[in-house]
Amino acid sequence: MSLPTFHADALCIGFGPAGIALACAIEDAREQGLPLGRLDLRFLEAAADTQWHRELLLDGTDINHHVFRDLVTPRNPRSRFSFAMYLKDKGRMFDFGLLGRPASRHEWSDYVAWVSRQVNARTQFDTPVAEVLPVLRDGQLSAVQVETAQGRFSTRNLVLSCGSAVNVPEAFVPLLGPRVFHTSEFLTRLQAFGSQAPKRWLVLGSGQSASESVLELIARDPGVQVHSVHRGAGFKLTQLGQFPNRVFGPEHVDYFHSLDSQARQRFLDYSRATNYAGIDPDESQKLFSLLYEDSIAGRQRLRSWGYHQVSAVREEAGSYQVTLTDSFSQRNQTITVDAIVLATGYRQYPVPPLLANLQPWLRSGADGGLLIDRDYRIATADDCLVRLWSNGLSERSHGISDSQSFSMMALRAGRIAEALGQPIHAVARTAALSE
Ligand SMILES: Cc1cc2nc3c(=O)[nH]c(=O)nc-3n(C[C@H](O)[C@H](O)[C@H](O)COP(=O)(O)OP(=O)(O)OC[C@H]3O[C@@H](n4cnc5c(N)ncnc54)[C@H](O)[C@@H]3O)c2cc1C
Repeated sequence: MSLPTFHADALCIGFGPAGIALACAIEDAREQGLPLGRLDLRFLEAAADTQWHRELLLDGTDINHHVFRDLVTPRNPRSRFSFAMYLKDKGRMFDFGLLGRPASRHEWSDYVAWVSRQVNARTQFDTPVAEVLPVLRDGQLSAVQVETAQGRFSTRNLVLSCGSAVNVPEAFVPLLGPRVFHTSEFLTRLQAFGSQAPKRWLVLGSGQSASESVLELIARDPGVQVHSVHRGAGFKLTQLGQFPNRVFGPEHVDYFHSLDSQARQRFLDYSRATNYAGIDPDESQKLFSLLYEDSIAGRQRLRSWGYHQVSAVREEAGSYQVTLTDSFSQRNQTITVDAIVLATGYRQYPVPPLLANLQPWLRSGADGGLLIDRDYRIATADDCLVRLWSNGLSERSHGISDSQSFSMMALRAGRIAEALGQPIHAVARTAALSE
């Protein structure tokens, strides 16, 4: 049976926070009676519902951005989709003020889900997009066809809001499965073990998700032993100062976008310490206290391997032999574990895989990646009549705030919504680029 074909003026792939922020921008415009509010934007979401990073929704975790950087406030502090409105609706405004700590990850996920229910978005859940195909007419790319198992959608305006891709080191790819998995599957994999959870674990990574995985494994079963491997001395703190954290602000994005591609790469590497590969002080305190208290009790639930790297891994008789190489002496040691958690983060491809079939119409920069203008529009060839936007996949062109962060989400959604609302002929097909 052939699949139905739907037409949409504009289509957004992904209804996570970035997609929801875009829906809010359009709904705000509708409520203000602005022309943008009439835009027919549909959303296709792979998941069955909205939950923010469900696989690491762990007790005791919190958010690492200010609650003003929610889905709308930096764009429109009057929006009814703000975190303040959520608190008001839930009757927690005063108690939240008394908390004296950031919102928990559970609360933030609840806020994101609350907005997704409030906002009048046309979202089709359970609809993963498999690929995006070109539609040619008179030798031009006249539309794209977005393929899903439920049907195909044709459109001339496409927004990618599908989030970053999981990063799995090559050596672990052939081993992926129930006992070797990325943190993006953490809770599902743990639940699948039931009462038969492994005892000997390796957690690879030095960032927030690694520290949370270590603490969760030990909290669930005090009988486990967890190996934690670090190139440096061990878990280190994320960059906390006010000045370095200004990289998440809009002025930084303007500055970053004005740089050439080599300077952007250098700046991105420099600013990564504010977000990646570091942990919060409270997590560091918990981990160090655990090591300390264990040394008093004469046990070692956590083995922290400072100055080491995994140099080889192989499966043998249902367990994993992992070779660790000392960063300075180059001496090798082998540990045996039953399961491996890859807390190895996320990555953004120079060209997102969903755009692979559109490659002939995509203009590329010096590094072979997409060219993306300040308003997040992807540059295309002159014979492309389709408009494409990157909503959260632009760290190469817009900097660290586009690498998995809420900081610019509301303002970015505002810019994309404004451009989407322009008639197709009113916006220059190939946007002005600084590269
Ligand atoms: C554990 C964890 C904690 C974090 N904590 C913070 C924090 O405290 N503060 C902060 O600023 N940032 C944090 N981040 C970064 C976080 O990724 C962003 O804040 C935010 O989730 C990014 O939103 P997004 O919509 O761009 O991407 P995502 O949240 O990844 O959402 C993408 C959506 O697109 C859908 N999708 C993907 N592919 C397809 C497809 N082919 N078809 C249809 N739908 C698809 C997905 O199902 C998902 O719903 C955290 C990240 C993680 C992993």
